[in-house]
Amino acid sequence: MIIVMAPGASEKQVQGVLDRLEARGYGHHISAGVERTIIGAIGANEREKQQVAEQLSQLPGVERVVPILKSFKMVSRDHHPNGTIVKIGEAEFGPGHLGVIAGPCTVETEKQLMDAAKAVKAAGAHVLRGGAFKPRSSPYDFQGLREEGLELLAKAGKEFGMPTITEAMEPRQIELVAQACEAIQIGARNMSNFDLLREAGATGRTIVLKRGFASTVEEWLKAAEYIATTGNLNIILCERGIRSFDTVTRFTLDLAGMAAAKLETHLPIIVDPSHATGTHKLVAPMSLAAVAGGADGLMIEVHPHPDQARCDGPQSLTPKRFAVLMEQIRQVSKVIEANR
Ligand code: PEP
Ligand code: MN
Repeated sequence: MIIVMAPGASEKQVQGVLDRLEARGYGHHISAGVERTIIGAIGANEREKQQVAEQLSQLPGVERVVPILKSFKMVSRDHHPNGTIVKIGEAEFGPGHLGVIAGPCTVETEKQLMDAAKAVKAAGAHVLRGGAFKPRSSPYDFQGLREEGLELLAKAGKEFGMPTITEAMEPRQIELVAQACEAIQIGARNMSNFDLLREAGATGRTIVLKRGFASTVEEWLKAAEYIATTGNLNIILCERGIRSFDTVTRFTLDLAGMAAAKLETHLPIIVDPSHATGTHKLVAPMSLAAVAGGADGLMIEVHPHPDQARCDGPQSLTPKRFAVLMEQIRQVSKVIEANR
């Protein structure tokens, strides 16, 4: 449940609420705004919620108590109605801040990664991506450079002054990724790997949580809640397409799902048009549609030579196409921001 303190409630009154929560064995999360403090109480079971809410609403300094009967609460928009900004390094994602993550699908060679990093940085991307541990559908496909890939990514990030992100597929990779990168990606295939989510959350690093391609928006938000229960609210959600009957695109980009999720959660949501569509020809139109539709950022695959890529070449933009798209994104974003 969420305890909204009255404007000007004293520290003692806030502490009084915390003491009461502690006495009942509940956890809490405090959000101290300029005007008022909001306390999220964690651990009340559904049966006692209404009763406890009524009791807490009597305490001095409490304006109101909202019992949340949803299966996600820390990530619920009720908690921060205006949305939150989440950072990857210095890059910001959230209201008023459109973040762009770009880079190759997979780290292949030092030259490939450096060329990609140089190009996406020059075009204005904020975060460098590149897969080191790759979840490939076939075990015979290139699985990534693994630890060597992490080293190259960290090197490229340093050289071009960009924070980096890469995917961790299992708990043993979490620490390695957390040491090398500013953000940990949880891929679509692992969205419901709850131990992995907890392990990733516990590092305190920013987590980019991709939507499982057979997961509902509610399941996606509950997965984010798993991360939030570790006390880490540095979470960015990423819509990357879901499976549908139509094979005209690789997946079906669910922009309505993105917009619907934004109504439910305060967390920033970005869109990955590369994996969603599977073709570079649709990356620009879907990027612009996502930004126009309120996405807080994008994740775009860029390869210096898509025709030589070892993975996802057909959906990768050339540096030149990416630079043009970045300019279009800035224009669309400006219009949306000016009329927010
Ligand atoms: C990726 O971004 O490298 C990736 C594998 O994406 P997804 O988990 O969305 O398939
Ligand atoms: Mn890819």
